[in-house]
Amino acid sequence: MGQFTLVIHGGAGTILKADMTPDLELAYVEGLKQALSAGYAVLEEGGTAVNAVKAALVTLEDNVLFNAGRGSVFTKKGVQEMDAAIMNGADLSAGAVAGVRNVRNPIELATEVMLNSNHVFLSGKGANDFAIKQGIKLEPDEYFFSQFRYDQWKAIRDSDNYSLDHTHQRLEELMRDKKFGTVGAVACDQQGNLAAATSTGGMTNKKYGRIGDSPMIGSGTYANNATCAISCTGHGEMFIRAVAAYDVSALMEYKGYTLQQAMEEVVNQKLVAIEGEGGMIGVDGQGNAAMVFNSAGMYRAMRSSSGAEELALYR
Ligand code: ASP
Repeated sequence: MGQFTLVIHGGAGTILKADMTPDLELAYVEGLKQALSAGYAVLEEGGTAVNAVKAALVTLEDNVLFNAGRGSVFTKKGVQEMDAAIMNGADLSAGAVAGVRNVRNPIELATEVMLNSNHVFLSGKGANDFAIKQGIKLEPDEYFFSQFRYDQWKAIRDSDNYSLDHTHQRLEELMRDKKFGTVGAVACDQQGNLAAATSTGGMTNKKYGRIGDSPMIGSGTYANNATCAISCTGHGEMFIRAVAAYDVSALMEYKGYTLQQAMEEVVNQKLVAIEGEGGMIGVDGQGNAAMVFNSAGMYRAMRSSSGAEELALYR
């Protein structure tokens, strides 16, 4: 039995202690802890990395604090359109959905795409039709509503701005509630199999069916037993252009970088060069974990059978 490890994130951005109340901070810490124990329990019982990342993400999607599932941000039209992806590093199978509505747990739908469709990536109405066919749980609009996301959206809905839900940008300077995020998990199980998963409501006030990096295999989500499993969070457009998650894997495979070196190169050099704010979490086949970000903070936590454990919000 090898070392097994789970790493999770709840988004990156302008996450500053000065903007946080003690109650809110505690709520984030609790939310991360719950997700970490849900996913880690799967690994401890000998479950697969795929099931571990899924269990962690379902917990985070159900938590209204995070921008995924319940509590997702609003689009320009005032609705919630969610994206999610999951990838199995053992066989490079993957499933992803974009722009889905009313799906309680988009990560379960992405998993269903991976396991029971002949496809990798479904979008919009078609993805929703597939959810219904597969018996995936749906919820009414009210279920996804949260006042603070609504207020965030109201502050910028009449502008052409769209924003990371947790970053100060122009009009967002006016807003207080901006420290919430996309969620992700990566795992290495007892067999040394890797998996990655990411789920998000995307960016506040997004329009034209905008899709970010989160559901794009290779950009926001990637797993390969030969190298690593990666889940990203940040300004999706830059992560897509940098093919960020796969680039970490490529640096390890072709240049022999360690996980930490590869993630630092991508996050602190390549993304910074194109003003790509955000971060990522990663794990390799030996169960080594890394959490790297170029923003003020990133909600993050990890636990490993080696005894290592960490939970942090700020730099
Ligand atoms: N990367 C996500 C997106 O661009 C946003 C986030 O990480 O919060 O849709």
